[in-house]
Formats: sequence, C-alpha cells, structure tokens
Amino acid sequence: MLNSTVIELSDALAAKKVSSVELTRLYLDRIKGLNGQLNAFITVDEERSLAQARIADERRSRGEAGALTGVPVAHKDIYCTRGFRTTCGSKMLANFRSPYDAHVIERFNAAGAVLLGKTNMDEFAMGSSNETSHFGPVRNPWDPGRVPGGSSGGSAAAVAARMAPAATGTDTGGSIRQPAALCGISGLKPTYGVVSRYGMIAFASSLDQGGPMAKSAADLALLMNAMAGFDARDSTSLERPAEDYGRELKLDVAGLRIGLPKEYFAEGVDPEVLSRVREAIRWFESQGAETLEITLPNTGLAVPVYYVIAPAEASSNLSRFDGVRYGHRAKDYADLNDMYRRTRAEGFGTEVKRRIMIGTYVLSHGYYDAYYLQAQKVRRMIAKDFTEAFTRCDLIMGPTSPSTAFALGAKSDDPVQMYLNDIFTIPAPLAGLPGLSIPCGFDARGLPVGLQIMGNYFAEARMLGAAHRYQQATDWHLRAPNEAPL
Ligand code: GLN
Repeated sequence: MLNSTVIELSDALAAKKVSSVELTRLYLDRIKGLNGQLNAFITVDEERSLAQARIADERRSRGEAGALTGVPVAHKDIYCTRGFRTTCGSKMLANFRSPYDAHVIERFNAAGAVLLGKTNMDEFAMGSSNETSHFGPVRNPWDPGRVPGGSSGGSAAAVAARMAPAATGTDTGGSIRQPAALCGISGLKPTYGVVSRYGMIAFASSLDQGGPMAKSAADLALLMNAMAGFDARDSTSLERPAEDYGRELKLDVAGLRIGLPKEYFAEGVDPEVLSRVREAIRWFESQGAETLEITLPNTGLAVPVYYVIAPAEASSNLSRFDGVRYGHRAKDYADLNDMYRRTRAEGFGTEVKRRIMIGTYVLSHGYYDAYYLQAQKVRRMIAKDFTEAFTRCDLIMGPTSPSTAFALGAKSDDPVQMYLNDIFTIPAPLAGLPGLSIPCGFDARGLPVGLQIMGNYFAEARMLGAAHRYQQATDWHLRAPNEAPL
C-alpha cells in the first residue's frame, strides 16, 4: 500500500479495499517511524488528520466521493492552513496559526483529501538544500548524509520515503523540480498564474507558483485538476476555462519535436547525469519522437538575473514581518525602531537576511536602474529565447539539476555554488513557463537523476502525457530507497 500511486489508492478507496482512516493511520505510523531520521515534517497532528479521514469515509459512504476523497496529502509549510501552524520554515512564524486556508488548501479540502501534515522547507523557500530551515535540515531518503534539495525538500523526501503518497510544493526558481530530481520523484511547476498564490506565503511574487509532487506524472495530473483554477483573491491568477490535466496521458510520442538546448548539455554538468538524461531522450527517439538541437543563448544570465529580481521582491514581501501584526516579536526593546530591528534580527536566518540586504540594495535609489531595471530587461530576453525555441519544438528536455544530491554542508558556506544548482530550473519561472521533473535513472552511488521537461505556456497536459508514456515504459519513478525500507 505504501508504495502505491495516488491513482491506485484512489481506486482502492473506491473499491472499499481500504478506508481513509486505515490509509491515514498507515501513513501517520510511517511518519512516526521515519521522521526522527529524515525530518521531512514540521507539524503532524494525528487527531486532526484522522478526523478528516473519518469525514472522508462518511462522504464516501454517502456516495459523494471524488478521486481524491480520503487520499492523504502532505502540504509544504508555506501554505496557510487553518488549524495547523504555518511556519514557512522560519523562527519568525514558528508559532503562527493562520486564521484562514490558502486557496490550494481549500481546493484539497473541497476534494475531500486528508491533510497529513506540514512539510519542512528552506526558510521562506530560500534555498536549494533544505539546510536553511529553522527546524533543521531534511535528509535525503536515498542517503541521509545528503540533502534532499530545496526548498520543497520536506515534501520531496516525504514522497520518496513513502511517508505521503503526494505533497504540494512551490517553485520560484526550481523548488519543486530540483528536490523532485534529487529525491527520485515527479514534480510539476505549472505556468505562472495557473495555481492561485492566495495564502501561499510570498517569496518573489512574480515567480512563485504552487504545484504537485508525487511518484508519477499521472498522479500529478490528478492533483493539478484539484489545485488549478481561477481565484479572484490572487491578482495574477489566470481566468481560463477549467482543463483536465490528464487529457493527454495517451499522447502519441511519435512525431513529437523535442528540443535539446545545447546550453543544458554543456561542461560542468555531472557526466552521469548527462548519460541518464540522454538515455531517457533516446527512449523518446525510439518511439518516433524527433530531437533537434536548440539554443537558449541567455541561459547563463538566468542565475544573476534571478538573484536580483527574487531578492528585490523578497525584501518587499518580507517587510510585513515586523513583530507588530503576527509572528515573532523580540522580548526586550527600547522603542519602536529597536523592536523592529531586534525582531527581524532574531526572527530571520542568515540566508533570508542576505536576500533582504541584496534586495534592498538593488532597489535603492541610484542602483535601481543599474540592477533591477536591467534585470527586468534581461528577463524579457530569456523569455524571448523560449518563444523562439517553441516555434521549432513542442517540448524541451534536459537535466533538471547539474548534479545528483550533494552532501549536507557541502555548499552551505558558498552561496554562489548553492545558487548555481538552479541554473536549469530558474529560466522557466523567469519566463513564466511550466516545467516538470521526472526520475530517469540513478548514478553509480544509487542517487536519483531527474529529467526536466519544459513546455510552452499551458502545455502541462502535453508535458504530463510525454512523462506518462515514459513512465509506462520504465519503473524509475516506482523505485523506493533502501534507506527507508517498506
Ligand atoms: N533555490 C532557489 C532559491 O534559493 C529557488 C527557491 C525556490 O524555488 N523557492 O531562491
């Protein structure tokens, strides 16, 4: 059961082979057994989860169940959740209880899914290794001496270790795809605006996008059907007709034009990662897909541009944590300004402070034109590279991350090395495009490798279709780590 996909669990619930209470209990026990070692969850509330499961079972007995009714889902602790505390991985919000649910949480509640707990993450989603969390690092289930990736590392580790059949994440510069790759699971960052940001604690608002993480692409499609949709409370939410993200799961791969950006197959990428990715691409070729070399010439500028824009927006978004409205407040202070200063000095960790300082600097009078405005112009060029590429191909494929999971502590003293992890995941959010990562094999150490599939705006169904076809022919996505025996 623990190794089942969401679709299999949904079928088992529908066939009354298992109840939601039994299923929830199973996962809660699994969390109890493994969380001490992996630290994937920040908050678990067994009674609340079981109460939700009982309601789901009642709903099913009344004949009112949908595909996700009774299915346990873990949520990244960036989503405001009534009843559960919402920390965003920060001391600033260590005791914060949101008075309302995020749009995504509302959607899962409406579908009857069971909230299994809140997953660990880099503080305010700033990181690629989950080492910046106030609640301690998450460990990679494939090798607990290594990082799970970040910032949705708790969600990725939870799914990989079978502590949850599915989880939510958010992706600003790669935080769904990179941890999915490093933990051997599937994760989708949708087109910007498809999933509402309401109640998702803001990091960089023009980039942040929520999405699902699970074992298989078919599961992601099912989860997207619940998560996506217009929400008037998010001013950048897109008003579009509802779509079925599973509608292209029977996609005919023959004739599909797959672009391979030469910048993604360059020096500096781990040769084992490149081999696994090339093998996956060869499978698509064997099915009649056509591959062609393309160029995304501004790829090298994506990381520097992101590290102007994301900190700029973060410095503005995080100004709300001032000790007045909610969250941490310093105990001793002389006056109001001193209270602000001490509160923020105590409440934020080093990486968050670094970003606030960079952001404040690039937005300051005299530097705004040189950094922020310039970065916006280059952002536009990066988006244009993709627009041109998608006139020649349907999908783009390449590695998700330049390496497999690295050792805990290996990059935490060198922010630039850490930032370079996201070189292949940052371009898509800068352009607002969707990106998907699926497992495509292992390196010699037994660590998972991720294949990234990018598509044009709103091409999620096609991307998921291509991924599903590959997953029907391979079983990388179903492998479970030995470190977390079933
Ligand atoms: N690792 C990137 C960063 O630290 C991306 C994080 C994210 O997508 N939330 O900003």
